[in-house]
Amino acid sequence: MTTSLKGARIHVNGIVQGVGFRPFIYSLAHRLKLTGWVRNTSAGVEIALDGAADSIQHFLETLESEAPPLAHIDEIVVTDVQPDGFSGFDILDSTSETIRFQPISPDVSLCDDCLRELLDPDDRRYRYPFINCTNCGPRFTIIQDVPYDRPKTTMSGFPMCSACEAEYHDPADRRFHAQPVACTECGPHVWLDVGGAILSKNEDAISGARKFLREGWVVGVKGLGGFHLACDATNDEAVKLLRKRKLRVDKAFAVMFPDIEAVERYCRLTDYERSLLVSRERPVVIVERKRGSSISDAVAPGQHTIGAMLPYTPLHVLLLEREAGFSDAWVMTSGNISEEPIATGNDEARERLSQLADAFLMHDRPIQTRCDDSVVRGFQGHVYPLRRSRGYAPAPLAFPIEAPPLFAAGGMYKNTFCLTRGSYAFMSHHIGDLENMETLQAYRQGITHYMRLFDIKPELVAYDIHPDYLATQIALTYAAEEGLPAVGVQHHHAHIASLLLENGLVHGERAIGVAFDGTGYGEDGTIWGGEFLVADLAHYDRAAHLKTMPLPGGDVAVRKPWRIALGLLHEAGKSWDDALAPVKIASDEERRILRRQLELGINSPRTSSMGRLFDAVSSLLGIRQLVNYEGQAAIELEAALDPDESDSYPFALNDGELDPGPMLDAILRDLANNISSGIVAAKFQNTVAAMVLSTCNALREQYDVARVALSGGVWQNMHLLSASVDALQTAGFSVYVHRKVPANDGGLSLGQAAVAASRLASGKLD
Ligand code: ZN
Ligand code: ZN
Ligand code: FE
Repeated sequence: MTTSLKGARIHVNGIVQGVGFRPFIYSLAHRLKLTGWVRNTSAGVEIALDGAADSIQHFLETLESEAPPLAHIDEIVVTDVQPDGFSGFDILDSTSETIRFQPISPDVSLCDDCLRELLDPDDRRYRYPFINCTNCGPRFTIIQDVPYDRPKTTMSGFPMCSACEAEYHDPADRRFHAQPVACTECGPHVWLDVGGAILSKNEDAISGARKFLREGWVVGVKGLGGFHLACDATNDEAVKLLRKRKLRVDKAFAVMFPDIEAVERYCRLTDYERSLLVSRERPVVIVERKRGSSISDAVAPGQHTIGAMLPYTPLHVLLLEREAGFSDAWVMTSGNISEEPIATGNDEARERLSQLADAFLMHDRPIQTRCDDSVVRGFQGHVYPLRRSRGYAPAPLAFPIEAPPLFAAGGMYKNTFCLTRGSYAFMSHHIGDLENMETLQAYRQGITHYMRLFDIKPELVAYDIHPDYLATQIALTYAAEEGLPAVGVQHHHAHIASLLLENGLVHGERAIGVAFDGTGYGEDGTIWGGEFLVADLAHYDRAAHLKTMPLPGGDVAVRKPWRIALGLLHEAGKSWDDALAPVKIASDEERRILRRQLELGINSPRTSSMGRLFDAVSSLLGIRQLVNYEGQAAIELEAALDPDESDSYPFALNDGELDPGPMLDAILRDLANNISSGIVAAKFQNTVAAMVLSTCNALREQYDVARVALSGGVWQNMHLLSASVDALQTAGFSVYVHRKVPANDGGLSLGQAAVAASRLASGKLD
């Protein structure tokens, strides 16, 4: 025995604090009959062990394979030492050095153990809507400051009862050091609020809310990161009423189902989508809706898909519990009017949402940080993020570039910002469109909050070169005030850089970046968006792009695709034939003004945007002439396509300029021959995939690069994405698509950070 006795010191770095790591170590050591201690340090967790050599080896293996679900181990460093002669195993207090930096866990959906207790009549937390443990519950949305400890969360106003306190201090308990731990005795409660008065409390409040929902009312429900507005998704009238009140004409609503069986009743799921739905992040997953399902068409007009999600808090579970005559599909959309930020406070909800909700299911656990639901898709067996927020943020992303701490401001729409520290990038939760005061305020507060939580003092600033972006203006002001260097990053370069970084292509590896989106400020003052950038992280060559077209009226054209279609026809020297949908929609007066505008080039900025080409075609096919939400014309064009059509149109590629002229000719011919819009839509989108392939082929010759990176908002089109990936892979390219951050502008901030850091490393900031 004594011959094999060994000692070891182990340092574990990563997300290992506040995630049940020490109790895990404690019980593992007991299991393997090892003695010693464990404690938190500023960098992670330190462990001292005495015991048999093979037990220590076993310990190290299990450490990785059985780590608690929320832990994320970056590194394990083991040093052999002489045995210390420990007699037992202890959890020691944290080291006295001030802990200034800890990654913070995102909010986590209700775990299976807590779900079981929630529904167990013998459990002391039976039907308690705030049950949680070390493995689940609120985190980021309740944290006010570091170190992560109950007094620095919004749970500070709920002193633990003795039963909760005992669990909290018991290393063998699942609730050891679970900061939000609570029960009916000591924790938060729910109530039903109608017109500012409390109608009922606790269990009665939940059954009262269910009664209202059953009757077709709209109920505001306070969740983890803000209020939802809920109504019966199978009740057409209720859904339409909610649309009218929310001033949301067409944009899809998310639907929450009580369980996975309910989702399958209405939607067709792949195995991978099923795994995303039940994952602990519990995002909204965009899935295919079954034809003829009883979900109201008003939930997602003009689309074959539905944003589905499962309950992620105990309150959701109780609220949507199955019962005969009770719907099993519920709209759960953000509690806001139009594009304003979601309401988080009770008073705020009463004030801002009183015209939207007939009643509120409220509770008294304050929300520190507003956090929207995340939205993802499954693509070829991996997650394809559309909005990275609740459940994902603020978990750090790997940032393997040697650089001082930096701040990247992000874009104007779907904004996120990003702060880096060492090998971590903290990309924020979804902030939104920086267009109104509330969102702008949330942006500023968010930045300050992250800087404090992660102890980051930026030494470098990165921003989009668009001078009108408010994020850009705020970044430049901040840089000037702090006397910091600031790096302007071109919009599409940032898109591609975010994807290169995600894939660890940080050592000057180049790729053909196909950046397709709606709008981004180009270096030449035109609006870009159909770009082929041969790029590494630091620099890029604009190797090819879509031929520019006029955007008569600028932003007005973005909302009225028929103007873009008429501009495209004019540019190509085609007549405005009365039979064409975009011509029909315009009055004589409008046509006259538009023609003059185009001839003289008045307020008609030129753009190479692929998103705008989609808009123009959507209009030509009579699918969408007025846009009620961003991307609507393109989304409905995708929904309209006939998946069995594999043909495409001709196009031209001359000196790095993609000319859709031949395609336009062919589309007009098809329309004149009454070919269905589903066929034309499919042929158009197949053509775009063909354009990607042949341009990449040409650039592979020219630049000797065989990697292709697909980023930008247009790549949310799944038909285009899979057609392009298939074609490129068949042609021998290594193809990169997003898995960590969105292809849309929600991923820009990470790319900006990567570009700025790489430029600094290469010694040239511009
Ligand atoms: Zn739990
Ligand atoms: Zn308690
Ligand atoms: Fe973009």
